[in-house]
Amino acid sequence: MSSKKREKAEAVSHEGLVIRNTGSSYIVRLDDGGEVNCRVKGNFRIKGIRTTNPVAVGDRVNVTKAADDADYITSIAPRRNYIIRRASNLSKESHILAANLDLAALVISLRDPITPTTFIDRFLATAEAYNVPAMIIMNKSDIWDECDRELAEGMKILYRQIGYEVAEVSAQSGEGIDQLRERLSGKVTLLAGNSGVGKSSLINRLVPGADLKTGKISDIHHQGMHTTTFSEMVSLPGGGELIDVPGIRGFGTIDFEPSEVSHYFPEIFKASEGCRYGNCKHTGEPGCAVLPAVEDHLISESRFASYLSILDEIENPEKYRKPF
Ligand code: GDP
Ligand code: ZN
Repeated sequence: MSSKKREKAEAVSHEGLVIRNTGSSYIVRLDDGGEVNCRVKGNFRIKGIRTTNPVAVGDRVNVTKAADDADYITSIAPRRNYIIRRASNLSKESHILAANLDLAALVISLRDPITPTTFIDRFLATAEAYNVPAMIIMNKSDIWDECDRELAEGMKILYRQIGYEVAEVSAQSGEGIDQLRERLSGKVTLLAGNSGVGKSSLINRLVPGADLKTGKISDIHHQGMHTTTFSEMVSLPGGGELIDVPGIRGFGTIDFEPSEVSHYFPEIFKASEGCRYGNCKHTGEPGCAVLPAVEDHLISESRFASYLSILDEIENPEKYRKPF
């Protein structure tokens, strides 16, 4: 081998963190400084899952400059965890939203717009399925009337009892922002939320200078066809990262077995220890211990309704597949 060729073969590789996925390429923040736009070389697919993106925001990677002077991601460190969702309603492929998370936080709003409880519970169940601790951030506390406040207190009690943290903030007035920043400090946190809840406003509050566009028009109508936007990571000033994930539809619930769904509702799972059959779906089977717990208000009706809706989607997928 000529010395020139050897030089190429021994190209130095740099370690870094994937902070953005632009579709065909990835932005990597290198540990030794700077950001590079990279393509992917090699096969990094997760066994048994068809993914549209082999590399995800939050991945630790090696970047190598090739002979053509382009930067390539040449290896990915094993992921601690990741969260995926179906690429589209009709697709069998899934999209890795983010990897190596410490926390998955859902930004919700009680009004303008309301976040449906089924959406909250689907998010939490997905986080359970992927082993990521989850929390709820209630935004827009500044516009709550007495009725909203009562609802908020009720939700705090419900979700805290199950084991989820619940924060109350206003991106507008700044209430609760310092405590939240403190809570997220040093962690890698996925932030999700239905359009309009104030996720961008909240990120702008937490990360001065993030300069995310707010009040943008929802891309929800296009989501049946493509995932049009991509996850993006921003650094918190005091340490830690936020991963802003776009869109709301179809978090996870991929490949759950019907009898497995209750495993991702901690309080239902606990009650199910008393069911006669190990594969009980809690829909009227003899000896079910969950249904009586719902009747006795030991399990909340709204949580049980969310559980049933996931079960229904798995068992009757055709009902949920909208034609374009
Ligand atoms: P996103 O779609 O979740 O990113 O929401 P945006 O950050 O774009 O906010 C949607 C709308 O809600 C904008 O008009 C914001 O000004 C408004 N908004 C965001 N946070 C708050 C809040 O805490 N209180 C009030 N009253 N309005 C908010
Ligand atoms: Zn049961």
